[in-house]
Amino acid sequence: MNRDKRYHNEAVETMQPEDLQRMQEDKLGKQMEYVYKRSKFYQRKFKEVGLVPQDIRSIQDLEKIAFTTKDELRESQEKDPPLGSHAAVDMDKVIRIHSSSGTTGNPSFIGITHHDHKGWTQITERSIYTWGIRPKDVIIHAVGLTLFVGGLPVKDAIEHLGATFVPIGTGASERVIFTTRLLRANVLHCTPSYAIYFLDYLRKKNMDPRELGIRKIICGAEQGGGIPSIRKMIQEGYDCIVTEGMGNSDAAPIIFGECLEQAGMHFCGQEFILCEVIDPKTGKVLEMKEGLKGELVYTHIDRECCPMIRFRSRDHVEVWTDRCACGRTSFRIRCLGRTDDMLTVLGVNVFPAAIRDVVGSLRPKTTGEIQVVLDKPGPAVTPPVKIAVEYSKEATDLENLKKKIETLLNSKLNFRAAVNLVPEGSLPRVEMKAQLVKKLWEA
Ligand SMILES: [Zn+2]
Repeated sequence: MNRDKRYHNEAVETMQPEDLQRMQEDKLGKQMEYVYKRSKFYQRKFKEVGLVPQDIRSIQDLEKIAFTTKDELRESQEKDPPLGSHAAVDMDKVIRIHSSSGTTGNPSFIGITHHDHKGWTQITERSIYTWGIRPKDVIIHAVGLTLFVGGLPVKDAIEHLGATFVPIGTGASERVIFTTRLLRANVLHCTPSYAIYFLDYLRKKNMDPRELGIRKIICGAEQGGGIPSIRKMIQEGYDCIVTEGMGNSDAAPIIFGECLEQAGMHFCGQEFILCEVIDPKTGKVLEMKEGLKGELVYTHIDRECCPMIRFRSRDHVEVWTDRCACGRTSFRIRCLGRTDDMLTVLGVNVFPAAIRDVVGSLRPKTTGEIQVVLDKPGPAVTPPVKIAVEYSKEATDLENLKKKIETLLNSKLNFRAAVNLVPEGSLPRVEMKAQLVKKLWEA
């Protein structure tokens, strides 16, 4: 095998859309029959609308079935332990359990069989290959390794690819420094929050982050690596290239990987997952086209243990379908935020991450840290939207800075804000994930 080829699987990654659709629909038909036979949860969903598996043969046919939500899966698991009635195999076929992070509600468990494990490794490896990772690379893994799907499945995929996996985990910055230097590691896999935190950490120790030798940072587990002002800060800080990936614990560990063109994350789950994009308010399926914005919905077309049909990911994305310069034909996305984090200000959709980008463009006068303060549950927010913004030591005229941010937010994102400037270091710094919204009723 040519160890430095351009694609992970050229035939699949450069497939014409009509050929891909034919392949996916063929697998969809088989998967529907399997799921109907094996999963009581989905049998009920089919029966509720008077359908049999043979009625679902095309992507369009999927619209006949209701969505699957995280709450339904949680309930299914509570009623039918261990994995719920949506699971389609007995426990003797399950080889590993992972769980979703449980940002809302209790975590739910996801099982995989040997077959699912192979599939997960293939999708994840393709995403990693798309990032430009090759066998010669040494990757410092500075994210969790336990139940989280960004851990062991990423290890499996990096090892299968033939690159070197160094499992450091979180909360071990000294070890990251020591190991990176000694092993001459050139890639860091972490959350964007950690990449920023670690920059600060190195500078406080009077070290130049550019001299550590990290030439590529792969961001995941939260958005940020794709936010222009954050990406710029990380790239300049380390003298490296930043790309990102995105997955979903119920669907697959890393389904999207961004190529070195840095033009959004490519879909890398061709033989395993079917994607729809919907309007989260109406549930209407939107046509896949350039510039589309909506929530991703996943359907497995080759999954044994915990198959999903029309699973609402709650990830709100922007889609590009034009041809990428890298030659891959798959659509690309950038995550705008969680559907649940979306605010609606007089009919205008606003994501906290977009606010962070605008404020970040005013560095070094701001630190780039923000927190949207909500006094009652959204998504509708009556303007002005209260936003805490950190100013840095370099800011002198605070009144002017406050006005500048408010004007910029109004012109770029189309809503009225009331900015409260707070000194550097007053907003919570987290190593793993940023907390962009403060909910006063939960405090
Ligand atoms: Zn590309």
